[in-house]
Amino acid sequence: MSRLAVVCGGSRGIGKAVSRLLSERGCRLAVVSRNEDAARATVATLHGSDHVALSCDISKEQEVQKTFEIIQRTCGNISYLVNAAGINRDSLLLRTKPEDMVALLHTNLLGCMLTCRAALRSMLQTKEAAIVNIGSVVGLKGNAGQCVYSASKAGLEGFTRSLAKEVASRNIRVNLLAPGFIHTDMTAGLREKDGAHSIPLGRFGTPEEAAQAVLFLLESPYITGQVLVVDGGLQLAM
Ligand code: NAP
Repeated sequence: MSRLAVVCGGSRGIGKAVSRLLSERGCRLAVVSRNEDAARATVATLHGSDHVALSCDISKEQEVQKTFEIIQRTCGNISYLVNAAGINRDSLLLRTKPEDMVALLHTNLLGCMLTCRAALRSMLQTKEAAIVNIGSVVGLKGNAGQCVYSASKAGLEGFTRSLAKEVASRNIRVNLLAPGFIHTDMTAGLREKDGAHSIPLGRFGTPEEAAQAVLFLLESPYITGQVLVVDGGLQLAM
């Protein structure tokens, strides 16, 4: 029987590349994003059939509950959860509006906690499952103009390591991917030629390169509570 993988933020960018790679590995996908049409468009590009697209704002507890209940009822127990949903609102702290702080923390940090909690109920039945949360290299190193975004991503590190300890005895692994600059809608406003000089490999990464690392973490049976940096060497220069 194929494994069920839930990818939050699977409609675009890194999450879309993860969804495609997992479908190539024979997984059944539940692709989650706020925009259901975009999630459906991703599903249409996946290998195999039986995938589902669901609309859910992961920052809203009731929506998360309802969505994971639907997944459990219609698709069965979850083997993999990838938390690739995220937003950025870059600005210096003095110029950051409180509502943007709330949106960043609610989506990037609270949203991930809510989806993990909702998925765990199902994963406990699976007896072997894995979660990959997506942080950022700026959550490890900090970055001017990204105080709140960095804080949300740094929070994910503590959350991931703690949850890994909580659920290891149930054979559920939890790891964090920390990407550098990856070509997606999120970095569309950045010019690669301005940023690439600080990256030892000299270029931004592709969503497929980030997805490969997610797959590695999902499929590595003896790795849990770890942070895997995928940044072309950027953090060496930070
Ligand atoms: P992206 O291309 O902007 O895609 C973001 C995805 O998240 C979309 O599918 C979006 O769909 C979904 N999403 C956003 N808010 C949501 C919400 N409240 N509820 C449900 N889904 C939501 O971003 P990306 O570059 O692939 O980033 C993926 C993750 O990697 C993020 O956590 C990001 O912070 C992190 N990251 C990215 C980079 C980079 O360079 N790209 C670097 C480091 C870390 P809808 O808009 O339809 O909801």
